Amino acid sequence: MHNKTIGYDALTAVYQPDAVFVEHNSKAYSFTEEILSRLSHVPVYEIKDIGQLEKEFKVSRSDVFGEGKKNLVLSRFNGSFLKKCPGASPGMVCCNYYIVNLSKNCIYDCSYCFLQDFLNNNPLQVAYVNVEDLFLELENVFTQFPDRTFRVGTGEITDSLALDALIPYSQLLIPFFNRQENALLELKTKSDRIENLLDQPDPTNVIVSWSINPQQVIDLEEKGTPSLENRLYAASLCVKKGYRVGFHLDPIILSPGWEKLYRELIETLFDFISASKIEWVSLGSFRYQSSLKPIIKSRHPETLLFTGEHLPGKDGKFRYLRPLRNNAYETIRGFLQEKSKELNIYLCMETKEIWEGVTGKSPRNDEKLDRFFDL
Ligand code: SF4
Repeated sequence: MHNKTIGYDALTAVYQPDAVFVEHNSKAYSFTEEILSRLSHVPVYEIKDIGQLEKEFKVSRSDVFGEGKKNLVLSRFNGSFLKKCPGASPGMVCCNYYIVNLSKNCIYDCSYCFLQDFLNNNPLQVAYVNVEDLFLELENVFTQFPDRTFRVGTGEITDSLALDALIPYSQLLIPFFNRQENALLELKTKSDRIENLLDQPDPTNVIVSWSINPQQVIDLEEKGTPSLENRLYAASLCVKKGYRVGFHLDPIILSPGWEKLYRELIETLFDFISASKIEWVSLGSFRYQSSLKPIIKSRHPETLLFTGEHLPGKDGKFRYLRPLRNNAYETIRGFLQEKSKELNIYLCMETKEIWEGVTGKSPRNDEKLDRFFDL
C-alpha cells in the first residue's frame, strides 16, 4: 500500500469564478444563499434569465468556452432532472444508468471534452439551485418502480465533485440516497475535493468513481485537473470512510508507448487501492463527434489525440479502428486481471461486438455486472 500523506493544503484550490449571476427566479432558494455565502469576494449580479447573458457573452469573447468556465450562473431548472444515459444510442452498449444534470459545464479543461462542442452555444458554468424539485422527482420514480434498482449519476455534463467545496450538492444528495431502498448515487469525478464526503456520517448507497489516465496524459490532455496520485489518494480516503469506489479508464488514448503508460497506471492504482475494494473498472477509448475535432485542434494545439486514424461508428462518433480498440481493451484488461481475477471490468460506450470480442460474453449475461447495472 502507498504511504503517501498529504493534507488538504495539497489539494487543488477551490474554484473562484470571476463573477456570479443569479437568475431572478432562483434568488429565494436556500441553496443560492448557501453558495453566495461562500463567494463573498466575488461580484454578484442579478439577471432576468440566462439566455440574454449567453448571447452577450458569445459576441464579446474570443475563447467563449474557456471564458464561460469562469462565470457562474445560479439558475432554476424547469424540466425533468432524471434522464436515461445517452450511451443507449444505436449500436452501442452502455452501462445502463440514469443521469441527473444538476449543473452544466466544468472548471477543468480536458482537450477531449465533448462539452466544448455540446455547450458551445451556452458555455457558462451553471448550477441549478432547486434541489428540492429533484428530490421530489426522484422519490416519485423510485417508489413507482420498487423492484428496480436505479443507478443515478450526476457527472454527464459536469464533474460531480470539482465544485463541491463551493456548491456542496453532495451534502444534500448523500443523505437523500442513504434513505433510498432501490437507488444508488454515482459521483463521477477527476477531483480530489472530497471533504464533504468525508464529513458525511453514512456512505450507504453511494459510489464514487474516478476517471484516471497516466500522468503523462493528464499533463497533456487534462488541464487543470488534480494529478493521478491526488485522485487516488482521495479515493483511498473514501474507501476508508466506507464508500464504494470505481474507476473509469476513459478515454484511453493510444499515443506512442501507451502500453507502458497504462501498465504503470494500473500499478499506481493498486498501490493506493486494493483490488477487493474496487467495485468495478470501466474501459472506454477516445471517441468524438466530427464537429469537436476543429475545436480541439484550435483550443489545444499541442494535443496528441489525433496521432492515430479514426473512423465513424453507427452512432456517428469517430473512434480508433476496431482492431486497435480491441487490442487496447484486451491488453489493459490483461494488466488488470494480472492484479486480480475478481475485478469487474466493463466497457462503456462500445459496440456489442467489441464487448463480446473482449470479454467473451454479452453485457446482459454477466451476473456480476447485473448486480450493479440491474434496470
Ligand atoms: S473533467 Fe470531464 S467534464 Fe470536465 S473538462 Fe474534463 S472531460 Fe470535460
